[in-house]
Amino acid sequence: MDRTILHMDLDTFFVSVERKIDARLNNKPVLVGGIGDRGVVAACSYETRPYGIHSGMPMKMARQLCPEATVIRGDGGTYSKHSKVVTEIIRETVPIFEKASIDEFYADLSGLDKFYSCHKMASELRQKIKRESGLPISFGLSANKLVSKVATGVAKPDNEKRIERGDEKTFLAPMPIQKIPMVGEKTTQLLQNLGIRYVKTIQEMPMEMMGKVLGKNGIALWNRAHGRDDSPIIPFHERKSISNERTFGKDTGDVKLMREMVRAMAENLAYQLRNGNKLTSCVSVKIRYSDFNTFSKQLKIPYTSADHILIPHVERLFDQLYNRRMMVRLVGVHCSDLVTGNYQIDLFDDSEEKLNLYMAMDYIRNRYGTDERGNSILSWGSTLGIPNIASMGNPFNGEPPIIPAHRNA
Ligand SMILES: [Mg+2]
Repeated sequence: MDRTILHMDLDTFFVSVERKIDARLNNKPVLVGGIGDRGVVAACSYETRPYGIHSGMPMKMARQLCPEATVIRGDGGTYSKHSKVVTEIIRETVPIFEKASIDEFYADLSGLDKFYSCHKMASELRQKIKRESGLPISFGLSANKLVSKVATGVAKPDNEKRIERGDEKTFLAPMPIQKIPMVGEKTTQLLQNLGIRYVKTIQEMPMEMMGKVLGKNGIALWNRAHGRDDSPIIPFHERKSISNERTFGKDTGDVKLMREMVRAMAENLAYQLRNGNKLTSCVSVKIRYSDFNTFSKQLKIPYTSADHILIPHVERLFDQLYNRRMMVRLVGVHCSDLVTGNYQIDLFDDSEEKLNLYMAMDYIRNRYGTDERGNSILSWGSTLGIPNIASMGNPFNGEPPIIPAHRNA
């Protein structure tokens, strides 16, 4: 069946939220991110772009390039709230949609054209979001996710673009290769070394040649360059939470052990979130006492997948929840309200060093990090026997996460 896929993306989301709060920032260069010397740019207004500024750049460098820019330390909680407002507006119009990140959505409008113009519906939704949330948003509309996402990029800021069925290849042809989603710095460099700068060149190459140069990725890239993509919309409600819990072999009153256990679980879940490119905005701790009475306590937090943010919250929740008068049978940690997103965007307070450290640690975990029981050798969990799914790949591919319940400690 022919598909019609809508991609919507809030324009310079963090900056737009800051401007909604303080209108004096309108039409001025604005940088949002870590304000420390080693912080990174999480979002930058269009006014900063002529200075060569882009997100992910060290804040120090951005400030040097554009000293007149207003620099704001981001607030994940505020952004999460605005993101939820937009999510609810979209939910009212299109019941099945994917929340791809804090400011990005896909919706499958296939089949609706029989009754109503998809483009008209998307335009009306865009106007409604702008009116009700006060935030600018752009969209791309086409036969698949890939082309719609690229179209949104072309439409921005505050506009919309539709690519007619059959025009996908022509639309992509003049673009620089790095405009294709998932073409990273390394691939760009490799292709540029081969003299490949524009999508058109890939389109003109035989598929086998791309396969020879880049292996399986080359074939995937060749298909993308032709505007082909059959990846499905993953409905938002399908991946609300992940959790980890443990029943002790023998009921325990050992506070130190329990604290270490929830800490290891938080670390394990944070790792799973990062591995699946997810962020959580709600964390809870559960305790089951020896009389089987179960209590839990939850906390709303700004979107994150960082150990050093998650762990202190979990420890505090445990301390608030734990009643020392009874033995404990089970402890658990639960992360919900998940969205797809890179953990870097949330760490407004963090240095590049810390981000690089996370990436390096996850890389090592993915590559070497498991012992014979599948436990990460680098995590707290390894010494406590909390299973780590490093060797099991991405836990968010439609399957519920592996919950190592009822294993004996
Ligand atoms: Mg955006």
